[in-house]
Amino acid sequence: MRDDKFHEECGVFGVFGHKDAAALTALGLHALQHRGQEACGIVTTDGTTFFSKRALGLVDRTFSKRETIERLPGHLGIGHNRYATTGDTLLRNVQPLSADMDCGSFALAHNGNLTNAATLRTGLVKNGALFQSTTDTEVILHMMAAANDEAVEDRLIGALKQVKGAYSIVACTADRLIGARDPHGFRPLVLGRLGAAHILASESCALDIIGATYVRDIAPGEMVVIEEGRDLRSLRPFGENPAHFCIFEYIYFARPDSFMEGRSVYETRKKIGARLAQEAPCPAAEIVVPVPDSGVPAAIGYSEASGIAFELGIIRNHYVGRTFIEPSDNIRHLGVKMKHNANRAYIDGKKIVLIDDSIVRGTTSKKIVDMMRQAGAKEVHMRISSPPSKHSCFYGIDTPSSEELLAHTMAVEKIRAWIGADSLAYISMDGLYDAVGSRPPAGGAHPYCDACFTGRYPVALVDKEAASTARPTERKQVSP
Ligand code: SF4
Repeated sequence: MRDDKFHEECGVFGVFGHKDAAALTALGLHALQHRGQEACGIVTTDGTTFFSKRALGLVDRTFSKRETIERLPGHLGIGHNRYATTGDTLLRNVQPLSADMDCGSFALAHNGNLTNAATLRTGLVKNGALFQSTTDTEVILHMMAAANDEAVEDRLIGALKQVKGAYSIVACTADRLIGARDPHGFRPLVLGRLGAAHILASESCALDIIGATYVRDIAPGEMVVIEEGRDLRSLRPFGENPAHFCIFEYIYFARPDSFMEGRSVYETRKKIGARLAQEAPCPAAEIVVPVPDSGVPAAIGYSEASGIAFELGIIRNHYVGRTFIEPSDNIRHLGVKMKHNANRAYIDGKKIVLIDDSIVRGTTSKKIVDMMRQAGAKEVHMRISSPPSKHSCFYGIDTPSSEELLAHTMAVEKIRAWIGADSLAYISMDGLYDAVGSRPPAGGAHPYCDACFTGRYPVALVDKEAASTARPTERKQVSP
């Protein structure tokens, strides 16, 4: 049973220079579990041999046993949590992917989505490449294998110059750890230190869990190379490009205890909530209720700015597995109650402001509004801490097609009526930028990607455009 949300894409982690590289990587992946729950994997190396363990399922199921970690020796490790954005959830798609090339062994973990992978793949297959997976990431390995450069990092640079879209990657050879972020920096990647060891991770919360210190974000378009006996090398092989970090990371995807671009995600969400209270006040309301868990910081911000009391009017059951299968259609309507239940003592007879981070298909919002009414709410006013989600993401977030997004086809008043709320308001685009602290100058470049709200896609959707102009039979050939 999938909830009614956009979904985080993947989490990556890497460590160089620590004897417990596998254990640290497992802990890092555990902290990044919210970025992908369908599969996970770790590759380590002792400088000579590569060791690998990849499996479907959660990190604690795969890497909790001492014997598993002991089978992954070495001072260098990379890891990946997967939420399938392209390709199926098959073991062969689980990352890190690795390959033995004439220039040496190489392993790669990728967060993001390449918008021209299918087009590149068609060309590679025509030239004899034999793909082992259906993920977009594998095109990078094939382009590297086909290149003539002697140094692995030069081959990686050459391959990354050909791909378009979003990538934050951690990769390793037998003797070095490499991190890279696409020229626009769609997805996050941070650098940390643990004693003499270097750490790369999708979010700073993965540094905290192993006691590492945050050093800095890897910059958009930057590649870092970490190896024995040399200072960290920072390369800018992709030229200067405008940054377009995913603004949705601040709204929902990232863990609230992470820092991104030097900002606390939690603090930013509170600011978004405060701005929402200014833009869409609800003076009649008696309590502010978050839709847990992601709506909590914005609801605190809304409560503080409005002076309306914050109450946990909905209690979340934390033991609902993502793979739970509803036993039969006739109890389908009970599904939302497995995850959320009204805290009747605080709802009954009250006028409430419900705060959520987004409305996707609207099915969950409708059920939660109904749950509040059944618990005795006199009025239910819905406030959303993102602008209306109208467009699909092609940069590494699992989203429904645009047609399935409620805001793509309905205006705000129609959505309000459909979910059954007394009022409904979303934060404005300007309000969101102000809360994040980076409103673009009039007519100036947007420092963030906001395409799922505006349809303004910063990087060409090559495969999508190719598919829309191809005849149906041709479209089948270009899809991975
Ligand atoms: S389209 Fe939306 S979810 Fe995707 S990268 Fe841009 S802001 Fe993030």
